[in-house]
Amino acid sequence: MDTKPNLLIIGAGGVGAVTVHKAAQFAADFGTIVLASRTRAKLEALAGDVAARFPNVTIEVRTVNARDAADVEALIKTVDAGLVVNVASPYCNKAIVDACLATGAHYLDTAVAEEEHVENMPAPWYEIFEFTRRPSFAENRQNAVLGIGFDPGVVNVFCAYAAKHLLDEIETIDIIDVNGGDHGRYFATNFDPDTNLREIREDVVYWEDGGYKTIGHHSRKMTVTLPVVGEHTVYSMGHDELHSLPYKFPKAKRIEFWMGFGERYLRVFEVLENLGLTSSIPVEVEGHKIAPVKMVKAVLPDPASLAAGYTGEVCIGCDIHGTKDGAPRRVFVYSTCDHTDCYAEVGSQAISYTTGVPVMTAALLLARGNWNPGTMVNVEELDPDPFLDLMPKVGIDWSVMDLPPDGGWSDAGQ
Ligand code: NDP
Repeated sequence: MDTKPNLLIIGAGGVGAVTVHKAAQFAADFGTIVLASRTRAKLEALAGDVAARFPNVTIEVRTVNARDAADVEALIKTVDAGLVVNVASPYCNKAIVDACLATGAHYLDTAVAEEEHVENMPAPWYEIFEFTRRPSFAENRQNAVLGIGFDPGVVNVFCAYAAKHLLDEIETIDIIDVNGGDHGRYFATNFDPDTNLREIREDVVYWEDGGYKTIGHHSRKMTVTLPVVGEHTVYSMGHDELHSLPYKFPKAKRIEFWMGFGERYLRVFEVLENLGLTSSIPVEVEGHKIAPVKMVKAVLPDPASLAAGYTGEVCIGCDIHGTKDGAPRRVFVYSTCDHTDCYAEVGSQAISYTTGVPVMTAALLLARGNWNPGTMVNVEELDPDPFLDLMPKVGIDWSVMDLPPDGGWSDAGQ
């Protein structure tokens, strides 16, 4: 971009909190910084937190209905935003994308668009909405970088890095996400319960042998031993990145996402599910239509509130099998992050931190002109090197580890 863009961050939840702190840390790269969401009180409290840590930076706050494209468009025009970071709910994506197209603002997000009362969207998910808008972004020479949290996001970058530097052929990709932390609550989700419980309860769709396979949730598991967090049971799960990576790696035999769950979490989840309380399809309660998952969300802890006292670490990475110079090679490209360190730095837990840091890294690359695709892309389509150079300076380091190609945790799949 020729001049420093005004930055508009939409969403002031757990991820928005990290994103706006990181924007303040790199305020020299932006014009004005504006934080917007529904609830003014939350916006003001968050702007106050940022002001306490960065007294020389001003964060403007605005309320907006981010499910209404006209409202978002008016806001983008009012604050003259050149770059919009969407860290609100996935239900807001359509309105925000269309408002960006209407105004010419560049766009970043961390999750694929979803419809509030639609479950088990057909694969590939990005074709349902995002790719329908790609020709318009290309025609306008306008940037949209999709899914740049950690997963989706950094894990897609790790795959691009492995293809560029570590492997000649990629055979399988296992994306593994383990939160080894403890928030001390009986049951809570680490990000928006609505989105989180839905992604766990839906059928699992993964890529194998040139097409998508569908299996029941929690029906495939394996045991992994990861750096820092140690041994965990992880379960195959549907996830956004499985709906973009096959475009870049169509010859991969299998691309699958695995997430760790503790015994307690699974027990509570099973009860909620068997009672129908994780459903996003509304039921009638004394004349009012309400989605059961919304009621559950209302009584669960706010994900942002888990940060104080959260201990332990997360490890997220890509276990990639392939070949290098004709010989089998297997690498694990990963990051770890400590909940307590995140809280000390920005008052947030690691799940929010590992999403806010990458989206702000990508925002900086767009603002500085290091990335300028001039169209809509998934992040693995971009050069991984500038991103992986910058991300440690924004707050998260990463590593590569060689693993024995013939053994280890991936063989434990059942
Ligand atoms: P939260 O529920 O904590 O926050 C959501 C924010 O969006 C809130 O500030 C909320 O406003 C705002 N919002 C929701 N609907 C509207 C609306 N109609 N108009 C204006 N603002 C709205 O969620 P998180 O911060 O935990 O997650 C944010 C996003 O990040 C989600 O899309 C999630 O899927 C994604 N994510 C991605 C990850 C990745 O690695 N790629 C990992 C974790 C999350 P208010 O508070 O006023 O209600």
